[in-house]
Amino acid sequence: QKPLLEVQNLHTGFNIEGETHYAVKDVSFTVNPKEVVCIVGESGCGKSVMSLSIMDLLPKHNGKIDKGHILFKGNDLVPLTEEEMNQIRGKDISMIFQEPMTALNPVLTIGYQMDEVLFNHTDTRKEEIRKKSVQLLQQVGISRADQIVNEYPHQLSGGMRQRVMIAMAIACQPQLLIADEPTTALDVTVQAQILELITKIQEEVGMAMLLITHDLGVVAEMADRVVVMYAGQVVEDTDVDRLFYEPKHPYTKALLDSIPRMDDHREVLNTIRGIVPSLKNMPKQGCRFVDRCPSAMPECTKIDPALGEVDKGHSVRCILYDASHPEKKAEV
Ligand code: SF4
Ligand code: MG
Repeated sequence: QKPLLEVQNLHTGFNIEGETHYAVKDVSFTVNPKEVVCIVGESGCGKSVMSLSIMDLLPKHNGKIDKGHILFKGNDLVPLTEEEMNQIRGKDISMIFQEPMTALNPVLTIGYQMDEVLFNHTDTRKEEIRKKSVQLLQQVGISRADQIVNEYPHQLSGGMRQRVMIAMAIACQPQLLIADEPTTALDVTVQAQILELITKIQEEVGMAMLLITHDLGVVAEMADRVVVMYAGQVVEDTDVDRLFYEPKHPYTKALLDSIPRMDDHREVLNTIRGIVPSLKNMPKQGCRFVDRCPSAMPECTKIDPALGEVDKGHSVRCILYDASHPEKKAEV
């Protein structure tokens, strides 16, 4: 089958004091129809910049795509105008954010905002619109939907607001939903409910999803494929089973090591030592993980590891797995 979304060699740069720093550097990955792809990594790894690049929502004053392609059903989104992107956003591709309050207009009722989405992006008949809005709210598990339409965002709980955002996001039956940390701002009990809802909706609508998260529990629950990002680059790309059972990249292993497990009785959990380098402090050459990598070798500061396939559908960016450095081929 043809991929729905193909990100190819994407470079997104930010201008800081006259110099371009890449928050996303040479990122490539694919999302197939109906597939759930998780982008995972610590904060500051470029995950959100990645999703904002796809949606053309980068801060206009200093962020920009410098190179690469974002093919949606074979058409490159990068050269599209604002107006053309408006057509695609909210119709073919929808997005939900971490904090729904920032995406909802505080002075308009929920019903008004839902109606507007349907009016602008669907051909729902005018007299049907309100009914459709209520139906959508019911579909996302809001039981008093006919009352909620008359309420304002601040009158709803965080979980309810996220349900409203999901209802808006699916109003036009998008083929791709991008969800950036959709549950991070919510209470733990509500998180599980919202994840369950997203899964149910994703199956009902039959859409693909690009889910951005730092939470490997969410990955285990939701993902078909996983793209691990570190310091603006993809370091591992594989299916969810191999991510958990055959992780290759030292960063992926460290991430997995840092999560609590059922059979884990250690008092103190591992955390990954050090921090993600900031945009201004990215190493100019060599592996970007070198300062934190337990397997680092002297070569790692000199050679830029390339993302290479280690197995069908499993790619890793690390010289331990790079065939062009055969002496470094890992015995793992
Ligand atoms: Fe670690 Fe070197 Fe591999 Fe980078 S290239 S992840 S520093 S072993
Ligand atoms: Mg983020």
